[in-house]
Amino acid sequence: MTTIVIQGVARINCDACPTTHHRTAKAAEIRRLAELARADHWSVEKHAGDWQHFCPACTKARKGGRLL
Ligand SMILES: [Zn+2]
Repeated sequence: MTTIVIQGVARINCDACPTTHHRTAKAAEIRRLAELARADHWSVEKHAGDWQHFCPACTKARKGGRLL
């Protein structure tokens, strides 16, 4: 899970690059944060039991990679 919590404020980091989603939420509202990220074209996927987050640029690159 690449959600980071600093002083009770949660943020989502991209798993593939240093991008951090601009929205923040209280640590108790991490699920809401994932919804906000999805609305901003981030991908939130579960792989082998762990959540992974990808920014729009990396989501596009990953989809392009699958097509090649
Ligand atoms: Zn990224």
